[in-house]
Amino acid sequence: MIAHNLDILRKNIIETTLSCGRKKDAVKLIAVSKRFPRSALIDAQNAGQVHFGENYIQEAQEKFIALNGNVQFHFIGHLQTNKAKIAAQIFSMIETIDSIKLARSLNKHLTKLDKTLDILIQVNWGREEQKSGIRPECVRDLLSDISECSMLRPLGLMTIPPFSEDPEDARPFFRNLHSLAESLSKEKLFYNNQAFELSMGMSNDYRIAIEEGATMIRIGTAIFGQRTLKQ
Ligand SMILES: *Cc1c(COP(=O)(O)O)cnc(C)c1O
Repeated sequence: MIAHNLDILRKNIIETTLSCGRKKDAVKLIAVSKRFPRSALIDAQNAGQVHFGENYIQEAQEKFIALNGNVQFHFIGHLQTNKAKIAAQIFSMIETIDSIKLARSLNKHLTKLDKTLDILIQVNWGREEQKSGIRPECVRDLLSDISECSMLRPLGLMTIPPFSEDPEDARPFFRNLHSLAESLSKEKLFYNNQAFELSMGMSNDYRIAIEEGATMIRIGTAIFGQRTLKQ
């Protein structure tokens, strides 16, 4: 089932990517495996999936050990400073950086590990109930502060738009994230000044996100099915 879902999804991604005039491999698929057992990750791995998104540190750590570290984990949940040490060890990318305190804490642990880490800044458009992420007008200052953290490589921005049944409602948020990244990139605030990453789009709105320039999409349900409640 997982292999079949991945197959369909990859075709849809390529079709959408090409239809808006972008290169075939412009969009990276992050399989969001939170609350699914390690067997689900192994099924996806066997079907060629490389990047996985996880939201909970302990759950990710257990899977990381079970898979012998043979996996590229993206952290997409809310990261507390006291979990920064484990996060520094197991993740290939942390997509949810939203404070200099967190960045410095990660940088300290990464220095000890002699490891550099790709990060994204999570942008919050001001939803009441969602506290993770930083307001768009504060991203510039955060990025300039992060430039002192030599082990962190800020590659771009990530966002979760307010939930809506209609995926079209997400389009303005995706468009705004894109233009924010474009202006920050012109100011050379990202690690790679030639290109930036935009992590946006989930199961119900990834086509819109691709049309608006997403370079990474985070898909759970469309690959693994409905999640059960958190234990
Ligand atoms: C759970 C989650 C996803 C995946 O959502 P689906 O709707 O299942 O595709 C993507 N991004 C984040 C940050 C998530 O927490």
